[in-house]
Amino acid sequence: MDRPRVTIFDTTLRDGEQSPGCSMNVQEKLRLAHQLDRLGVDVIEAGFPIASDGDFEAVQGISAAVRRPIIAGLARACTGDVDRAWQALQGAAHPRIHVFLATSDIHLKYKLRITREQCLEQARDAVRHAKSLCADVEFSPEDATRTDVAFLCQVVEAVIAAGATTVNIPDTVGYSMPEEYGQLIRTLREKVAGIDKVTISTHCHNDLGLAVANSLAGVQQGARQVECTINGIGERAGNAALEEIVMAMRVRPDRYAYEAGVASEHLFASSQILAEITRVPVQPNKAITGRNAFAHEAGIHQDGMLKNPLTYEIMTPQSVGVPDSRLVLGKHSGRHALALRCEQLGHQFERRELDEVYRRFVVLADRIKKVQDSHLLELIQDVVKGNASNSDAPSSESKKFPPAAVALPLPRSAVAAAGANANESHPAQVSAGAGQAQAQPGPAPTNWFGGGVPAPIADHHGDQEDYLWGV
Ligand SMILES: [Zn+2]
Repeated sequence: MDRPRVTIFDTTLRDGEQSPGCSMNVQEKLRLAHQLDRLGVDVIEAGFPIASDGDFEAVQGISAAVRRPIIAGLARACTGDVDRAWQALQGAAHPRIHVFLATSDIHLKYKLRITREQCLEQARDAVRHAKSLCADVEFSPEDATRTDVAFLCQVVEAVIAAGATTVNIPDTVGYSMPEEYGQLIRTLREKVAGIDKVTISTHCHNDLGLAVANSLAGVQQGARQVECTINGIGERAGNAALEEIVMAMRVRPDRYAYEAGVASEHLFASSQILAEITRVPVQPNKAITGRNAFAHEAGIHQDGMLKNPLTYEIMTPQSVGVPDSRLVLGKHSGRHALALRCEQLGHQFERRELDEVYRRFVVLADRIKKVQDSHLLELIQDVVKGNASNSDAPSSESKKFPPAAVALPLPRSAVAAAGANANESHPAQVSAGAGQAQAQPGPAPTNWFGGGVPAPIADHHGDQEDYLWGV
């Protein structure tokens, strides 16, 4: 078990949140940050403090509330940004300032209008300033994969000398190919003085569908941090998907013998919570967390699955936290079983809140015998709505779930229970007998595919167009 450890740097709350339709308010970011903590990520990039007051407050709030992981704040390479990031990170147990500056000629010429010499100087100065405030400093040469390699080496060497402890190599525009990206990491390791003292990081975008492949190629060539997001959300086609990176390493240790400190059984709930908060549904065929990721429809596949799941299954649904539908909830189920299922569906309740959910659950179970996930989600929704509309005494729950956030994505078991094709149910249901899936006339799962789901109301980046570029 002496496999090299890869740091999982989650940027769902920064790069992910910058993508259209994915903005989150401070309460929502806090809720997701707590889930990322449970999931076990090493670094949470909580925001871009100078971009807006909302971003500042989110970084500040997460720094105060989430104590185990490193909390990173993004800053452009200038004093004002770095100072603002540091201010937001004041309360963090493990703060990190993440400085970025574009280095490709096309960005220098058309966006920043500076020369390579000025770029080098600015990067060095900003890192030096950040280092005077914070021991943990990351630097990202934006658009690194389209930067002249010799110049990139020069910049990386300069920021290491100035005190950077992590050097991130962003494929900002999703242009790189796996061998090419791996080669770039190898070149940096061969040519840059001092590189062995710092952590090399990957940050890949998915414009050609290669973000995960590129990240893994980087890891194979010596990168020891991967920047990624839940459900792969992010600018344009998104970032490398956290769940895919983690499970690729877990399912194929023969090829990727690296360790990540992520509790994979929390992946599904993390995905569900993000989809619920942003109201951006997970694509059905999304690897690991999509509704169909563990569904076996073809007859020959079902036959194989029933004989031995290994025929078609490279990992179990349980290993990524997909609820086990064989565990049927009924009126004899205890509070603990109910709390566990709620958690698997992405809802953690305080005792008082759970009491209310449990009270309604018992009434319902008495009436319909078997409570499916779809029923439970409906019930949770009612409790949440009830609390949210009670303006006299706003509960902590109403803060966690603002009134607008009533669209709940349903897990596959709920869809099956609601009368969809029973063949679409996942293996656990197949082996439990297809008859189980035709059960109750549950509520229609209209929100799984996002049909009619309202767009988020406010985008706090709306008037901050300049900040929409990152790394
Ligand atoms: Zn990015």
